[in-house]
Amino acid sequence: MLVITAEEVSHEETRRRRGSTQGIQSIPFSAGLCASASLREILVLCLLATAATSAASGQSLKAGAATSNITPPIGAEIVGGHLPVPSTHVHDELHVRCLVLDDGQTKLALVTCDVVGVHRLVCEEAKKQIQQHAGIPPANVLISATHTHSAASVQGQDRLKHTESLDDYQKFVVQRIVDGVRRAVTNLRPAEIGYGTAQAPEHLFNRRWYLKPGTMPENPFGGIDQVKMNPGSGPNLVEPAGPTDPTISFLAIREPGGRPISLYAAYGLHYVGGTGGGAISADYFAVFADEIQRLQSADRLDPPFVALLANGTSGDVNNINFKQPRPAQKPYEQIRYVAGDIAAKVHAALAKVEYTSNVRLDARLREPTLKWRRPNADELAAAKKRYAEGVKVARGADLPYLYAERALRLAEYPETTTVPIQVLAIGDVSIGTMPCEVFTETGLEWRQVSPLKPAFFVELANGSFGYLPTPRHHKLGGYETWLGTNRLEIEASDKLLAELVAMAGEIKTARESAGKASALDPALHERCLAVLRAGLASEEFWPAMHAAEALTLAGAGKEVLAALAKRSAADDQQACGLAREAVRAGDGAKTAALLAILVKPGSIGHTHAAESLYKVAQTGDGAALRQAMSQSADLKLKLMAAAALARRGDVGALEVVRQHLKHEDLEARKAAIWIIGQLGAASDATAVHAAMAAEKDELTKAYCVHALACLGDSTGRRLLGENLQSSNPAVRTYAAEFCGYCRGVEFQSQLIKLLDDTTLDVRVRAAQSLIVLLGPSSKLGLTLAPQ
Ligand SMILES: [Zn+2]
Repeated sequence: MLVITAEEVSHEETRRRRGSTQGIQSIPFSAGLCASASLREILVLCLLATAATSAASGQSLKAGAATSNITPPIGAEIVGGHLPVPSTHVHDELHVRCLVLDDGQTKLALVTCDVVGVHRLVCEEAKKQIQQHAGIPPANVLISATHTHSAASVQGQDRLKHTESLDDYQKFVVQRIVDGVRRAVTNLRPAEIGYGTAQAPEHLFNRRWYLKPGTMPENPFGGIDQVKMNPGSGPNLVEPAGPTDPTISFLAIREPGGRPISLYAAYGLHYVGGTGGGAISADYFAVFADEIQRLQSADRLDPPFVALLANGTSGDVNNINFKQPRPAQKPYEQIRYVAGDIAAKVHAALAKVEYTSNVRLDARLREPTLKWRRPNADELAAAKKRYAEGVKVARGADLPYLYAERALRLAEYPETTTVPIQVLAIGDVSIGTMPCEVFTETGLEWRQVSPLKPAFFVELANGSFGYLPTPRHHKLGGYETWLGTNRLEIEASDKLLAELVAMAGEIKTARESAGKASALDPALHERCLAVLRAGLASEEFWPAMHAAEALTLAGAGKEVLAALAKRSAADDQQACGLAREAVRAGDGAKTAALLAILVKPGSIGHTHAAESLYKVAQTGDGAALRQAMSQSADLKLKLMAAAALARRGDVGALEVVRQHLKHEDLEARKAAIWIIGQLGAASDATAVHAAMAAEKDELTKAYCVHALACLGDSTGRRLLGENLQSSNPAVRTYAAEFCGYCRGVEFQSQLIKLLDDTTLDVRVRAAQSLIVLLGPSSKLGLTLAPQ
């Protein structure tokens, strides 16, 4: 972990005081290779048998942007200050600003909201609706707060309680986020993108200070901290306790002809302030956006140009120079000064940006479990005692009483919470996010250690969990570390950063392994086909169907149809197998047979019919599948019907599957895990890990491993490799099959060995995955389209 030494801090401070570092840097993208962010898309890729190499060619970026107005009514409480005050005026409108990028396979949505923080539930609801309306999965949507202190609250009753229902303004903001993203999608058009940076150290001041001995006031717990937040000016100031991050990072997006589409920037400054009393304002974030628009001659374009300024890492950085206080200013004067200056610097840097339309987009969202910080026995006893003593000065000013009250509330929290963190990869540029007011040291470290560089950070994203001091700052104490201000465990920043690095590493590895995938060697290709032809001719019915599937993926659909025509079904289950492979091989009319078996009274083929419809991505009119999903007498049937519906974009159906991940019925949870591995999001990995830890059944444990591998989990991928060598042929069979689903190019040599396995099904699935991973693309056109 990065340790900022005293020298580095003072060096940083010297540089900042000089205010002369205004270097401009622009780094062109290097085009990444194929790696789709969405695992749903990965599955579809496999089903399409698109060769990894073909996906790398001819990437053509599209981009669109839009804004939505989220200004609350006059009278709404402004919540940025010490105590809420009712608004009496709107100085400037509050907005949601949305940018959507699309590389042809993957869409990303980047959203900023002019609020102090966005409640996690608001983000989750908006993401759900964005998926429904725009088909962009939650992992690919980044929603962050700018942290203007002059806005109304979308934090609900308790920003840390994740079970509340949304209030009216929260619902309104959800709607406006969804509208903004949908409008940005409507505005998608061919685009080029470039990355650049500008330096603006002079507006940034670390607000945590060491003071001269004997001048530190008591904290609310009766102790003496080593540093003080916002100490005010005075002769007792020694030096700031941490650095600032002077780099403005930005993505610039324009039409191929040069007309600007959007600019997404991040800068590590808490906010500027100095607004008029009682006035709603988007602070300097909006003035920056207006200034960039003016400087680029991009006013009133149709479709519009939209600039977004996200907050970098500014939990400990503000715009107040305590060493040299500035004279009194008129309202908004300082906001205009800071915004104008950084807009001018970014505008100058834009001239040096190199653009490309060939860029890969990827995303990972994960929700690691962390402990809530709760009072220990001593702290609880002290809080109870102080609380019982009551208010001793005016209530708002009685910090010991207020923090005692908070400690008592925190004692009631559950032990743990999950914390959503996200990496977006845009070409080689990575954006890391956490849902907190993150300290600068974490952002600076991310820039250095992200496996995908250049890297920058966006805080207060996908939720609002309060200040996130580093463990070093926890030792120093001060406002942001006090129990009651800070809510996550002491080691949280290190744990979350390590996870972000792992996530970016996974994206990098997936891109590299896809890049290494070469065309299937002709001799190996022939060997795979020979295995599959032998399988198709086999007396063993199901291995023959699996061979049919793989041969279709290999482009031999006609051969498969001819072979299927010669077979007859012993029962309705086998009839489903024959119909399903016929549909896959090109005979779409056989879908009717699957739908007929699904509703045939007394048939033993109901579940096979639903599973087959899932596998060929057909639903008919959906009515029979919805009926099957709504019953609970046959859980496996219910879940396979849900899978078929989910595969065509039914988000509610996927939720039904998720609810069965820990079901007491073995077959039900096995089916749920199998489906989530293929259709779920990276954020499902936490639940699958939990299911795996509790699982006793060997094959179901293997299902968990394979699902995790598909969800991009590094442990899952490692264990998948071990399962390829299992002594249990069923485990080997499923592992071999899932190597294709999870684009496990790294298992190539193990799969080749399995072509000689003693079990036919293992040989067939190994050949299938080799063809999916390395073979030529087939013509089969299955699509994952929302209904
Ligand atoms: Zn703040």
